[in-house]
Amino acid sequence: MEFEKAERLKKLPPYLFAEIDRKKKEVASRGIDIISLGIGDPDLPTPQHIVERLKKAVEDPKNHKYPDYEGLYEFRNSASQWIEKRFGVKFNPENEIVSLIGSKEGIAHIPLAFVNPGDYVLVPDPAYPVYNIGTIFAGGISYIMPLRRENNFLPDLKAIPEEVLKKTKIMHINYPNNPTSATADKSFFEEVISLAIKYKFIVCHDMAYSELFYEEPPISIFNVEGAKEVAIEMHSLSKTYSMTGWRIGFAVGNKSIIEGLGKIKTNVDSGIFQAVQEAGIEALTGDQTVVEQYRNIYKERRDMVVQKLQSLGYEVFYPKATFYVWVKTPNNIDSRTFCGKILEETGVVLTPGVGFGTYGEGYFRIALTVSKDRLIEALDRISKVKF
Ligand SMILES: *Cc1c(COP(=O)(O)O)cnc(C)c1O
Repeated sequence: MEFEKAERLKKLPPYLFAEIDRKKKEVASRGIDIISLGIGDPDLPTPQHIVERLKKAVEDPKNHKYPDYEGLYEFRNSASQWIEKRFGVKFNPENEIVSLIGSKEGIAHIPLAFVNPGDYVLVPDPAYPVYNIGTIFAGGISYIMPLRRENNFLPDLKAIPEEVLKKTKIMHINYPNNPTSATADKSFFEEVISLAIKYKFIVCHDMAYSELFYEEPPISIFNVEGAKEVAIEMHSLSKTYSMTGWRIGFAVGNKSIIEGLGKIKTNVDSGIFQAVQEAGIEALTGDQTVVEQYRNIYKERRDMVVQKLQSLGYEVFYPKATFYVWVKTPNNIDSRTFCGKILEETGVVLTPGVGFGTYGEGYFRIALTVSKDRLIEALDRISKVKF
């Protein structure tokens, strides 16, 4: 039988990457070696001491049971210490932190706790798709905040109409940013917080790339006064510790926001496998030298890729953070045509900017998640394509 899907699924934006997946298979079947610079998934392995801790934890029967929905106290406490050490802000592990099955889970679930049908959620564009999708699932309306080059890929807060602000329940922001690699400074966060206090909405800051920086370490939204009144910040072990497959992260912030998110979670999931939480404790409290080693590897790749692209005449937004490079397509070619032709002729997979939203059109994204040698090979192939 074929079942009709619910309206909320029909409202999902078209999955643009299906087209890429299909083309990728077709190109591979011609015997062309594929280099994927598409997905932002670290190629560097999870550090060994974290893997060892999981192995031990898995042997312990106490870890085989249902975990607590809000996460092991020890994990939340480790997260609290990590945040305090990194950003100088204290959070009570009892009620200002909740563990997440990856930060994506928290982002997807938070509207269910705070958004009623017809309420607005402010969503950046281009962006990680989950901000919009979580909003749709909750019956909310995404109000698009364009991220433009001339504003350093920060939303223009003054352009949001007052009628929208009055009906807004959540604003999503994400710095360091995927896909643009932009970073935000304190004055931007201050503007966000004062707007949120004025119009009484929640600020949900996605900080998945907090440790992938190449210059000044990015600040937390909680480095701004008043943020604890209105904000929640999503943190992830995925990119920092190369743990994307492990599904572990946490949220810190305002007590009542954490409580709302926690309530949704109690009713839909049963927490993170405790052995993974023990490994998470090891990641957050153990030796941090690998984080810096990995950062240096990405930095070397970034330097090489940016230099090479610029020498080929590409207009690159210089990444101060993240493992992405956000690049203008040549001669204003639309991003699907550009990435399609590159894939077709070279086997190199790039992500068309429009896949992240309308305002991503005219750009493409390179993920620095393959070795330097493969990146050199990819750029070499790209340099031979004529537009
Ligand atoms: C990778 C990524 C995440 C992290 O997701 P997890 O669920 O923690 O693995 C969140 N936000 C953005 C923007 C990302 O790119």
